[in-house]
Amino acid sequence: MASTKRTPMIAGNWKMHLTSKEAADLAAAIKKGLDPDLKHEVLLAPGFTCLHAVKAALAGSEIFLSSQDVAWEEKGAFTGAVSPSQIIDAGCTHAIIGHSERRKIFLETDEVVNKKVKAAIKANIVPVLCIGETLEERESQRTYRVLETQLNGAFAGITAAEASKVVIAYEPVWAIGTGKTATPDQAQDAHVFVRKQMERIYGKDYAEAVRVLYGGSVKADNVDELMAQPDIDGALVGGESLKADKFLRVIHFQAVLSR
Ligand code: PEP
Repeated sequence: MASTKRTPMIAGNWKMHLTSKEAADLAAAIKKGLDPDLKHEVLLAPGFTCLHAVKAALAGSEIFLSSQDVAWEEKGAFTGAVSPSQIIDAGCTHAIIGHSERRKIFLETDEVVNKKVKAAIKANIVPVLCIGETLEERESQRTYRVLETQLNGAFAGITAAEASKVVIAYEPVWAIGTGKTATPDQAQDAHVFVRKQMERIYGKDYAEAVRVLYGGSVKADNVDELMAQPDIDGALVGGESLKADKFLRVIHFQAVLSR
């Protein structure tokens, strides 16, 4: 479903790396290297403790700030959690939700992901919703079933109008941090499937408009072929987003010219 209407988004997930100073320096270098005529969206997701410093470093630029997670409650006795209004206070407009590391290491279920997506939407935060299958699931032909279950779970009880805020990131777990990227065809097939599921849930117009990013070992040297796929609307980038020069090359992917 090729579309020129979907604005590409390139997002950097800095995970549990960098101190505030390191994060601010990296953000400043990315800001400095951006093509001023760039038409697509760029998003940085530093750790919670770095948000304020990165926000200050990004002043005057159009780069968006994201958290890597968000709580589903606004306030109360939730030790260690960070609420939607707290991330807004730190300058965030977006929140990554349901990253596979949250699902696997912190045992987040589809129900938890759904509550977080709802809380983000209610607070006017753009959820960057991550879904994806493990290697075992792919090898046992369960990729589509897993994606369908994750999408049904994440969007349960959410109206089409509310869902219009969401950006989806398809991130095959076996490709995250492994250096093993999905081939452009594998990624394109999964993105088409995701879009079909969104059409089933919310209809054709929604499915054509929703942005689906690819994540999983996106690098400066493979981004162009991935972004040339008609249903890949951007990238969620981990390791490669920690190096300003490499991430700037990812941001300025060449396929932009043919979209
Ligand atoms: C990620 O953190 O979502 C990710 C895709 O990481 P990497 O690019 O390092 O595989």
